[in-house]
Amino acid sequence: MLKKLLITFSIILLVLFISIYVLLFTGSIPKKSNVNISLAEASKIALQKGGDLPIALNSMIIGSGDFFKGGAVAGEFKNYRFPFPSYQILYRKANVRKSIIVDTAMNFKMMKSMKTGNPEFSKTNFKKLQKALVQCSQIIITHGHFDHIGSLMIGENKNEFLKKTVLSDIQYNTILKGKDLTKNQLNLTKMISYQKYYFLSPGVVLIKNPGHSPGHQMIYVILKDKTEYLLAGDTAWHRDHMELRKNRPLLISLLLKEDRNAVAHQIAWLREKFIVRKNRVNLILSHDYSYHRILIKKGILGKTFSLQ
Ligand SMILES: [Zn+2]
Repeated sequence: MLKKLLITFSIILLVLFISIYVLLFTGSIPKKSNVNISLAEASKIALQKGGDLPIALNSMIIGSGDFFKGGAVAGEFKNYRFPFPSYQILYRKANVRKSIIVDTAMNFKMMKSMKTGNPEFSKTNFKKLQKALVQCSQIIITHGHFDHIGSLMIGENKNEFLKKTVLSDIQYNTILKGKDLTKNQLNLTKMISYQKYYFLSPGVVLIKNPGHSPGHQMIYVILKDKTEYLLAGDTAWHRDHMELRKNRPLLISLLLKEDRNAVAHQIAWLREKFIVRKNRVNLILSHDYSYHRILIKKGILGKTFSLQ
């Protein structure tokens, strides 16, 4: 009897151990990526119609919190602090009427629901963001997760914001399916369809990048002074994905309903471009706090929004 019990207990332990290993520790990245995105091509498209190029890319962090240990990068149990940023592509100094906001972050209630550790929220920056959303000419999103579209779902100005929002057809359909916004609200937005690259405005090109979510896209930006950026959204959450060649833990990919294989190849592509070949384009990952700080310190990324 005791022997039988011991065997059953050992089997349960083994299954538990294997499950934890598979769910939290596995997440390899292929050596060679199947992603075929050309930043040179994106640059060509961004410049092809002429027009005044943007003069700055500003960022603003609305809040931040510690992601649960072991949840960000497969097998890594260090503390990853996630910032929740919004970006402003500014065309003319002191004229924010022509500016594009990329990702709208969220309010404190939404942030609290993420249950991150030591949450910090800047009411000042949130207010400033709401003003910038009123004053801007266009709003775009990397993808439809609520930490990137929160401001479109709340407040008295949300319909005004939606009227200025440009969504890809896949973003439209997935946001509708997720029920974060109603069909009537989404019908206020401008919907676009594109294959791979989309010229949005002088110096700004959308790049289709499904994986983290079906409607995920990256934003390529080139400024008047030729500084270039790739806003890669949530393709990778931290440079560690590329440095350590590790995906998100399987558990997280399953919860997010990611196309894990697509994300693995996208991380391999980012690694090849930005770590191995050190591409001149500045890579911006939405939730990599330490790298955000470096770019701000170097003056490559503006640390707050311009307002009128
Ligand atoms: Zn996301």
